[in-house]
Amino acid sequence: MRDFSTVPVVMLLGPPGAGKGTQAKRLEDHFGLIQLSTGDLLRAAVANGTEAGKAAKSVMEAGNLVSDDIVIAILRDRLGEPDCAAGVILDGFPRTIPQAEALDALLASQNAAVHAAISLEVEDDAMVERISGRHTCGGCGEGYHDTFKPPAIAGKCDKCGSDDFRRRADDNPDTVRHRLVAYHNETAPLIAFYADAGALQTIDAMGEIDAITKTLQQMVAPIIAGVRGPLADQQTTTRKTQMEETQ
Ligand SMILES: [Zn+2]
Repeated sequence: MRDFSTVPVVMLLGPPGAGKGTQAKRLEDHFGLIQLSTGDLLRAAVANGTEAGKAAKSVMEAGNLVSDDIVIAILRDRLGEPDCAAGVILDGFPRTIPQAEALDALLASQNAAVHAAISLEVEDDAMVERISGRHTCGGCGEGYHDTFKPPAIAGKCDKCGSDDFRRRADDNPDTVRHRLVAYHNETAPLIAFYADAGALQTIDAMGEIDAITKTLQQMVAPIIAGVRGPLADQQTTTRKTQMEETQ
């Protein structure tokens, strides 16, 4: 089993629409971390036909939810791949206390831990407005928003002139509010769990995306430097530079 003691493990917590995926991707690009989301991990494991992937496939084909044991096995396999030595960002996992405990046990078995669980804090009312206002042009795919980016002429796409605007069925205010309540119910115990572990950090995620990215970077940089240590950080930087040069 790999020694993960110099591998930073960062986690983002936040409701759907808080920008978790976008920020995780930006942290990945900025720090050379690997973004791990449960959905992607499952798809890759099934596609690669790993033991755990085969188990997941048969469970999903039977119409059942993949168990925590299988998800953890897939995560363990993925963490064992060389690129994860640079550090990982978990996005969307864990969702429950048993999952968080299983993750802790997995990391502990590799001399690692969750170094930062960062909660993206949002205001529910603003989230409902943000998400339920989204729509796209059916003609050209241009994105719009009722409040933040309406078309110049009401009902007509700026780009292609189409009047065929589309909304995702599950972006309506009631559904969004329901999702947020479910998220808070599900996540409150996790927030407490990581606060107890001394790993919880919070960030106001209602502002501009770029400003949030900057704050996140400032928050994560010392954590990563502390875990990697000066030597490991140098090696990663060198490797990243080499990768950039060969691209
Ligand atoms: Zn259009």
